Amino acid sequence: MTISASPTVRFAPSPTGRIHIGNIRTALFNWLMAKRDGGQFVLRLDDTDQERSTQEFADGIVEDLHWLGIQPDVIVKQSDRFELYDAAAAKLRNQGLLYPCYETPDEIDRRRKRLMARGLPPVYDRSALKLSPEDRARLEAEGKKPHWRFLLPNFAETPFETRRTEIRFQDIMRGEQTVDLASMSDPVLIREDGTYLYTLPSVVDDIDMGMTHVIRGGDHITNSGAQIALFRALGGAEPTFGHHNLLQDATGAGLSKRSGALSIASLRDHGYEPMAVASLATLTGTSLPVEACGSLEDLAQLFDPNTISKSDSKFDPADIGVLNEKLLHQMPYGVAQPRLAQLDCDLGEAFWNAIRPNLNLFSEVAPWAAMVRGKFEAAPVADEDLEFLQTAKKLLPAQPWADDVWSIWTGKLKQETGRKGRGLFMPLRLALTGQTHGPELADLLPILGWEETIRRLP
Ligand code: GLU
Repeated sequence: MTISASPTVRFAPSPTGRIHIGNIRTALFNWLMAKRDGGQFVLRLDDTDQERSTQEFADGIVEDLHWLGIQPDVIVKQSDRFELYDAAAAKLRNQGLLYPCYETPDEIDRRRKRLMARGLPPVYDRSALKLSPEDRARLEAEGKKPHWRFLLPNFAETPFETRRTEIRFQDIMRGEQTVDLASMSDPVLIREDGTYLYTLPSVVDDIDMGMTHVIRGGDHITNSGAQIALFRALGGAEPTFGHHNLLQDATGAGLSKRSGALSIASLRDHGYEPMAVASLATLTGTSLPVEACGSLEDLAQLFDPNTISKSDSKFDPADIGVLNEKLLHQMPYGVAQPRLAQLDCDLGEAFWNAIRPNLNLFSEVAPWAAMVRGKFEAAPVADEDLEFLQTAKKLLPAQPWADDVWSIWTGKLKQETGRKGRGLFMPLRLALTGQTHGPELADLLPILGWEETIRRLP
């Protein structure tokens, strides 16, 4: 299955949980690159671990991406593609590049610890390669099942004498990277129960689907060395790699452990705007200013992989709230209108413009709409304000009103009562809205109109 056009990118989460803001960052980098350059975005569900992967999590990932405005061009599941992986494994076996090993996890662990105690790198010594066909037959007769390792091309004469073997690649986010294949163990590609680990299926899919770019977290750099060796062994075209920095919480810990609070689902349920989440996820950890972008198209214009810092980046969840407010405060009526209508809060453009500076979350429009409609709890009038408010009622200019009705009215009131500042406007605000804070009264007055204003004054 070759997907045409260039670039072709993929976001490849395992559906073993809800995705969080760190994951979505990878998705967005891929999406923005594809969209900016007219390419294709594939959602690949890495569900080879069938015990931990669920359809519910897979559906959740699609839902979260849609909420952010990411519509994958293609969705594939690795569990539908085992034939391809079997064929690739057979190809490697035929070249002598995939070999069976029988060590138990305990044995491997003991060996690693012994090596580390001697100050040596804990690299697998390939002792399974020394097993004769008879040894293997005996082990299998005892009921042992092999796991399978990929023989890394890090030796000249014999696999038991490895030598420095550099895999170099030009990382679009980090510049030239070098991975020494002699510094790592031959990766296990197939588990004892015959299931595939992520390493091989990912390369097989990247080749089969014609990925031009693999953009993922910096925790995959070493993997990329081994995977490039696999691309070469399988005769596939190597994609361009980009490894972005990872996000850390305020304590410097990775985000995955705390994914619950920062899951896309929980941010959505909280009522944040998708573009607040997308703007922060994309711009944090770059040299670009972190600002609220109104659309993914705008973000795609801003985004540049070269601006991503090389080191990991601290991330403050409170920034989502800040960007969220900015988005709402700038949101044009045309964008807000369908949502206002849906909440039965569409009281026109002047209403929206008056209340938007007061919003932290969009859902907060409802109490303001109720206030304009007169459905609010009136504040008790303080004794010292009663006469003042009665004067205000008398002095309210007759309609028609121009935009300056508030300043005309309060000018007269000032003259008549000698009040100014807070003493002047707070009793009016309380009487008209029932609240001590809220939209500018100058904007609100024309929305209420003469009759309603009079009705609210004692
Ligand atoms: N399923 C892998 C992960 O979530 C994908 C990594 C990749 O993009 O290749 O880490």
